[in-house]
Amino acid sequence: MNSAIQPKYSMTLVTCACGNQFETGSVKQDLRVEICSACHPYFTGRQKFMDAGGRVDKFKKKYGI
Ligand SMILES: [Zn+2]
Repeated sequence: MNSAIQPKYSMTLVTCACGNQFETGSVKQDLRVEICSACHPYFTGRQKFMDAGGRVDKFKKKYGI
């Protein structure tokens, strides 16, 4: 194994569009992302999740389930 041909892997500071910053292991430097765990809909979109639930309820009512 020749380590010289291996990409350099180190901790990189990732900056999200929401302003959150976190470190991750990457071969790239100064990563920029548009979404992170702090602003991802899965984590912040509780309202969207509620809307989806309401839609299911409407669906159930419509078909008498
Ligand atoms: Zn973010």
